[in-house]
Amino acid sequence: MPDVRALRDAFAERYGIHPRLIVRAPGRVNLIGEHTDYNEGFVLPIAIDRSTFVAARARTDRIVRVYSAQFAAEDVFSLDQIERNPDQPWSNYVRGMVKGLLARDLPLVGSDLLIDSDVPLGGGLSSSAALEVATGYALQLLNNADLLGEELALLAQGAENSFVGMQCGIMDQFMATLGRAGHALLLDCRDLSYRAIPIPPDVRVVVCDSGVRHSLLGSAYNERRAACQEAVRLLRTRLPKITALRDVSPEQLAANADLLPPAVLPRARHVVSEIRRTLMAAAALERGDLAAFGTLMLESHRSLRDDYEVSVPELDTLVELARALPGCYGSRLTGGGFGGSTVSLVAVGAVEDFAAGLVAGYRERLGLDAHVLVCTASEGVSRAATF
Ligand code: ADP
Ligand code: MG
Repeated sequence: MPDVRALRDAFAERYGIHPRLIVRAPGRVNLIGEHTDYNEGFVLPIAIDRSTFVAARARTDRIVRVYSAQFAAEDVFSLDQIERNPDQPWSNYVRGMVKGLLARDLPLVGSDLLIDSDVPLGGGLSSSAALEVATGYALQLLNNADLLGEELALLAQGAENSFVGMQCGIMDQFMATLGRAGHALLLDCRDLSYRAIPIPPDVRVVVCDSGVRHSLLGSAYNERRAACQEAVRLLRTRLPKITALRDVSPEQLAANADLLPPAVLPRARHVVSEIRRTLMAAAALERGDLAAFGTLMLESHRSLRDDYEVSVPELDTLVELARALPGCYGSRLTGGGFGGSTVSLVAVGAVEDFAAGLVAGYRERLGLDAHVLVCTASEGVSRAATF
């Protein structure tokens, strides 16, 4: 974890003065409910104990300077002219947040920002939302503004949608903002109502980073979204009341399958079945039925692999290996897909052997290195230090 004092010193070295404050916002891992958020369905994520930190200090002019330790790079821009920076794409998450806050009529002053993080970048754990939310929260505190958690999450989602060009749903930013320690949140992405469900003490959430990265930006992800919209448009000819796949049950979809072209039907089938699985999984978690929960995770993975077609062989291999290891209730790809990570639910006593077995099996089968994180459900964005 980036150390608060080391961050303060790094800031002082770079900018010649101490930061005023440091905030942190966590990454997240979704236990089940994949590609359902932008269909106004349900998701069941936890915020993880990995965070992005932003050290910040207000300036007296209208310049924003931002340094990322992960990219070892600095970007500088003026509050009066915020455009996309094609040379430093990472900075667009920051620029987009600043632009979003200005659009809310917040009288922002310039600032010096320093970013450090232990959320793996591009690993499906939503380092992007962690960065957006931490940046937004730091700027709010510097400017004595007060956006409620949900508003901050929506603003961050807006920044990623419009400024970065990634049509992500609300889940990532919501968890970075409102995650709760020890709990998963069953989040209704339609109205942002949620229920916190305790994670039983005898299991651990184990994330395994496949090390494989494929860019989703502008391509497969946005294409899946378009297929879902197309499904809704076609289904509305017979089901005029629906506005999202959230409104369609698996039974209704089966009865109206003839309306959808072969390329669209499986996409819709994933979404409507996944929404049902997510609700069932939340109920299973609530009653402590981890075996049922694990079975739903495996079904989710199959659906993502075969119907939504967002898996890759590396993720399939990790899930297969996990299933065969002792103490594992279930496993699936998590995040958008096309690389990134899997998530598994594992009995506490079996976690160490599970992690070792997974890494060894992956190396043996594919000759690749996997990285395991045993996660604890954590709080959303918070102030880490004030100086
Ligand atoms: P994920 O959100 O799953 O980690 P994304 O592709 O959505 O993957 O976001 C990763 C991108 O977000 C990075 O390539 C970078 O542009 C930006 N980003 C995330 N964390 C940081 C950071 N600590 N410093 C600078 N940019 C970051
Ligand atoms: Mg992201």
